[in-house]
Amino acid sequence: GASIGILGGGQLGRMLSVAASRLGYRCHVYEPGPAPAGDVAHRLTTAPYDDKAALRAFAASVDVVTYEFENVPAEALDLIESIVPIRPNRRALAVSQDRLTEKDFLSGLGLTVAPYAAVDSAADLAAAMGGHARGILKTRRLGYDGKGQVRVAAGDDFAAAWGQVAAPSVLEGFVDFSAEISVIVARGQDGAVAAYDPGLNEHRDGILRTTTVPCGLPARLIPDAVLIASRIVTALDYVGVMGVELFVTPQGLVVNEIAPRVHNSGHWTQAGCAVDQFEQHIRAVAGLPLGDGQRHADVVMENLIGDDIARVPQLLARPDTQIHLYGKGEARPGRKMGHVNMIQR
Ligand code: ATP
Ligand code: MG
Ligand code: MG
Repeated sequence: GASIGILGGGQLGRMLSVAASRLGYRCHVYEPGPAPAGDVAHRLTTAPYDDKAALRAFAASVDVVTYEFENVPAEALDLIESIVPIRPNRRALAVSQDRLTEKDFLSGLGLTVAPYAAVDSAADLAAAMGGHARGILKTRRLGYDGKGQVRVAAGDDFAAAWGQVAAPSVLEGFVDFSAEISVIVARGQDGAVAAYDPGLNEHRDGILRTTTVPCGLPARLIPDAVLIASRIVTALDYVGVMGVELFVTPQGLVVNEIAPRVHNSGHWTQAGCAVDQFEQHIRAVAGLPLGDGQRHADVVMENLIGDDIARVPQLLARPDTQIHLYGKGEARPGRKMGHVNMIQR
C-alpha cells in the first residue's frame, strides 16, 4: 500500500500518522530524538538530519514526504527530494524558515504585516528603533512559543537587547491588537482551497493556551481572514494545511506569521469538523480530494501544558470533552503534554 513519510515525530507528527493510518496509509516517521510518534507510526527512524544513509533509506521507503516541523536543514531536504516529492513544497519551507524572507513575501503579496527591519547588530537595532516607542526583536530562524524574542522600548539598552536574541534577527513594530486569530487553510493538488473558521487564540507566557470557535469577531472580518489565507497558499502553489496567524486591529487584519504545516490552533477541528486538519493535510499530500471546512460544533481547545497533565482525571469526568494525550514522558514546565477539545452547548 501507499506510504507517507513524516519529518518530525512530535505531537503533530503523531496526530498526522494517526490520520494517515485511518486512511489506510503506512507511515514512516523520521525524528532525530526519541519521539512520541514512535508508538503509533508503522516505522520510526531515529537518526540525525545529516545521516545521509538513513535519509536515503527513509525517502526510498515512502511515496511522498511531508513534515510537522519547518526547520529541517536544506541539505537533508535536497537529498530527500532527489528521491521522492516533498509536500508542501520547498518554496513554502524556504519562505517560512526565515522571518525576514517570510515578511518580504507577505508584504510582496500586498498583505499588511507589522513594520519590520533586518537587524544584524546593536547599531542596526538602535537605527531601526529610530523614534519608535516599542518593538519586538525576534530571531529570524528557529523561534517558537515566544522563544527567541525580546520586547524593546525607546531608551532601553539596545546592546543588551540585541545580545539576548540569536543573530540574525528582525525588529518588528509593536502591533496594538485587540485580538489574535488564526486561519487553518488547506490547498489540494488540484488547486482547491478549503479554510476552517478562524479561531480566537489566547496565549500565556508566549505559549498558545486556548483556541475558541466561533471567534466572536465582527462577521466581516471572517471573509477577510479567509481570503488572506487563500492568497498565501495560492501564491506558494502550496499543497497541504497551513496555519496563518493574524492580529485584529482597528485598521484591519495584520499577518503575524505563517506555519507551513498543521497548527496547534487547528486542533479544535478534531471535535468541530467532519474532516479535521490532520486528515485534511494527509488528503492533500496524498492527492485525495479535500474535505470542506464546515464546522458542526462550537469548541474551546485548551492545551495541557506541564503540570496541567494532573487535571486529566477531572477532565475525563466531563462529558463532551475530547482528550488527546501525546505520550510524552516528564511534564516539564512549558512542555505541551496534550490538549482537550471542549464542545460548547
Ligand atoms: P509560535 O509558537 O506561534 O510559532 P513564535 O515564537 O513564532 O510563536 P510569534 O507568533 O511571532 O512567536 O509571537 C508570539 C506572540 O507574541 C504573538 O502571538 C503575539 O501575542 C506577540 N507578538 C508577536 N509579534 C508581535 C508584534 N509585532 N506586536 C505585538 N505583539 C506581538
Ligand atoms: Mg512561530
Ligand atoms: Mg506565533
